[in-house]
Amino acid sequence: SGGLDGLRALVTGGASGIGRATARLLREHGAEVAVLDLSPSDLPAGVHGFTADVGDREGVTGAVTAAATALGGLDILVNNAGIGAAGTVEDNDDDEWRRVLDVNVLGIVRTTRAALPHLRASAHASVVNTCSIAATAGLPQRALYSASKGAVLALTLAMAADHVHEGVRVNCVNPGTVDTPWVARLLDAADDPAAEHAALSARQPIGRLVTADEVAAAIVHLAGPQSSAVTGTALPVDGGMASL
Ligand code: NAD
Repeated sequence: SGGLDGLRALVTGGASGIGRATARLLREHGAEVAVLDLSPSDLPAGVHGFTADVGDREGVTGAVTAAATALGGLDILVNNAGIGAAGTVEDNDDDEWRRVLDVNVLGIVRTTRAALPHLRASAHASVVNTCSIAATAGLPQRALYSASKGAVLALTLAMAADHVHEGVRVNCVNPGTVDTPWVARLLDAADDPAAEHAALSARQPIGRLVTADEVAAAIVHLAGPQSSAVTGTALPVDGGMASL
């Protein structure tokens, strides 16, 4: 272990993909870790699971309180739970817009609200949000998803400003296309999965998909006490896409 000994971390959406890799890495670095997910099964060893939908206000508050009680407090919050949506503004109806904004944006608001009393009591408090290059890239066929992640980026900066004087840092990571079960599902649904995989890989200058472990490493870096002067930043983890 090392680096995060004695710190207590909560990861939303921690049962799969980027969140699961983050929970495992936080644990490897010595933190006590809890995951909040729709169905937190098959978690990394030593990680506590709590069931909640970040789109449900009461459920989130109860689960964050239960997690903080189980861990004896909270130092690190990783707001990672998120869902996707494909299409232009003509393709998604208002109900789809409400559900994605409810989970991707209000999910962060609710979880952070419930966690802040615990974070304020920590000497090493930090929040890391999983945003996306979609926040700024102008991707086609991603109007709703991009709007939700643009809100996450703005929210990250606003929260950083609001809570810096309370000793709570807030940053986000902006992944490119990451090899997770989510992307595997998208590829499976494509007409030609192999061609789609090649196209997604070619879009990133490193010529391949980003791994969940690479995003987790960036999240843990921002979350840990070594980043004590870093707040209000967005770290791209996108194989060079953002620099184009
Ligand atoms: P994933 O589907 O593999 O994992 C997401 C996890 O979040 C799942 O365990 C799921 O159960 C949980 N979750 C979903 N909705 C939830 C809800 N309402 N309440 C609680 N938990 C919920 O996805 P992933 O690829 O690891 O994505 C994680 C985050 O990374 C998301 O915010 C996503 O927008 C972001 N992201 C992913 C990519 C990518 O290419 N995979 C790129 C940029 C950003």
